[in-house]
Order: sequence, then C-alpha cells, then structure tokens
Amino acid sequence: MKATARNTRQQLCVLTPRSFALMVITAALNVGCSSSSREQPSGALESAEAGLVKVLRDSRAVDPALFLDGALVSEVTTEECTLNGGTRTTCLRLNIAGAPMNDAQAGPYCPPSITSSAKEGGIWFDGSGTVHDVDGAFIVSLPELYDDDRWQMYDPATGKVYIIDGAEGCEVAGDPENSSGRDNFCLSCSLEALGGGIQQAILIPTEPVPHATPTPVRGSNPGVALNGVLFGPPAPVDLILSTITLGVFDDCGGHANPHEGYHYHAATDCVEIVEQVDEHAMLIGYAMDGYAISAHLDPAGKSASGLDECGGHQDDIRGYHYHAQAPGRNRIVTCLQGESVDQVRGGPGGPPPPPPK
Ligand SMILES: [Zn+2]
Ligand SMILES: [Zn+2]
Repeated sequence: MKATARNTRQQLCVLTPRSFALMVITAALNVGCSSSSREQPSGALESAEAGLVKVLRDSRAVDPALFLDGALVSEVTTEECTLNGGTRTTCLRLNIAGAPMNDAQAGPYCPPSITSSAKEGGIWFDGSGTVHDVDGAFIVSLPELYDDDRWQMYDPATGKVYIIDGAEGCEVAGDPENSSGRDNFCLSCSLEALGGGIQQAILIPTEPVPHATPTPVRGSNPGVALNGVLFGPPAPVDLILSTITLGVFDDCGGHANPHEGYHYHAATDCVEIVEQVDEHAMLIGYAMDGYAISAHLDPAGKSASGLDECGGHQDDIRGYHYHAQAPGRNRIVTCLQGESVDQVRGGPGGPPPPPPK
C-alpha cells in the first residue's frame, strides 16, 4: 500500500452562510423541542416536530457543488422519481465520470514478480477485515492463506507472476465465472484498457426520505464518491476466489470491469475530499438515499461512536450521515436508512447490464 494518496482536497467548510443561518434556526427551534426528539438517531427526521424536520432536510440535501471538478460530466437535472419505499418525489440526476478527478490514481493491481514491492501492486481483502498488500510475498503466500495448494500464481522458474491484463483482463474481471482454463491469474483491468472512465447516470432523492426499515446493501451500488467514482456493492470475493483468480483492488480499494467501470470496494484516503469545520471525519460522498457519507476515521484517527446498524448517526452540524466501514470490510455502507431509486447498472451511455447469473 502506498503511504498515502493525499488529494486535491477541497478546503470547503460545511458552514456556508445559508447553513449557518439554518443552524441558528435549528438551535432556536431546539429550545422548544424536547431533547429526546433530537437524540433519536435515524428516525429522528421522521419523528421530530414538523418545523425542525423541514430545517434539517433543507440543509442536508445532496450538494452537487461539493463534487470535484470533472466528477460530474453534465449539468445536474431534477426529475420526478419513485423511491423503493413507494414515495413519489424528485431526484437529482448525476452523470458521473467513472474515473477519479483527484490525484487518487487507479491501479496498479498485480505485482510483476514475487520479489515486487507493495508499491508495484494493490491490495486484497476478503471481507474479514484484514487488508493485505499485494506484493510478491503475498502472491507466494496464497496457498497458505487459503489453505489450498492449487494457488500457484507465478512461474517457479522465473518468479514472474501470471497476469491477465489489457482488454482480456477487463473481460475476465467482468465475468470471473467464465474464466475456467485461465486459473491462477492475477487480474488487471486498467482505466486505459477500459477506454477511460465509464460514465454512469445515478438518481438520488433531492431530499432524503427515511425508510420504514433499513435496506441492506447487496447487489446495487450504495453511493458515489465526490471524485466521480461509484462506491460498489460488496465484491463477490468467494466467486473470485473459487475461480483461483485474484481480482485485485488498487491501493484506493478500486478496480474495474466493463459492466461497472472503475469502482471502489473500500473507502480510503483517496476519497477524503471535504474537510469539516470541526474535528469530524471528512465528507467522502453521498449514499444513494441522499444521506452524506463521511470517512471511517476523523483527522485524529478516531472512529465515530454511537453508530446504528447501517453505520450512521446524527449530529447537529451534518444531520444524519453514514461513516464508511473500515477498508477491508468489503463494504462501504452496510444498509441504507433512506429510500432510494433502484439503480440500473450501466445507465445511459454505459454498457448493458451483465446477463443474469
Ligand atoms: Zn468490483
Ligand atoms: Zn459522524
């Protein structure tokens, strides 16, 4: 893993004059509110007094201005939409670039040889929480790690790692089940091999609508990073492993295939983009329900406390927001507290969705 990939951070503070004014109003309203209604976590927006609800929602909507330059490839438009909880409302249509618009580099993925350093490869995690550097030694350790002697991902005579890259790497990455006969390969699908970022259209409610029950994040994208890259659902690690291939992630926790383009399976410092006025973790993006996603750790390296089952909580400055899971958990957000639009993979201008499996 690289030491760090500090980015062109936006030195934006969350207290715009407008939101500051709203905070004052919120505080004023709060005097008249019972403190218990303020302390409820996710349901608070629904159950709090009407005036307060309005203020919170107005100040917590998705702010397209926080996306980095180039992350949104066209004008943001508003359209009517129906959310998965049945709510008819308006949504923002965001056309995202599908490639990082900061200096968070995509790749490298596979180390060329068993003597390669961590700098020459990416990372691997299977969801248990451990993040492995994919260096030469990691490739050698695979039979031990997975207690399976079939892992032999390098030429014992030369130490060269077996790699499928270029267009074929992207093809196999998009369809690991059909990679039989190509066992024991490290997969690399670079942005260049993909022809650049795959632009995707996503719909996010203009204002978050709390859902009666949290929706687990399974096969659909849970959100988007402010640098223009999708947060993907948990990677199918078991499927990847059962084919004895490694669909390695780069140091940002991203990788690519022709269906989803370049996307993240971990939230790292590559997406820490908007600093906060307090010591709170930086803003990294938005979930598909419109709630903000903050980094896992704050600038002091501390994780947030009092998180609900989805990894979110509420505070006075930001309202309800998620904190990304630690890298290595193979999920950015566990579940969504708000209603969202069922996203179509690929989207306009993108490739068709993969055949059902
Ligand atoms: Zn993936
Ligand atoms: Zn927080």
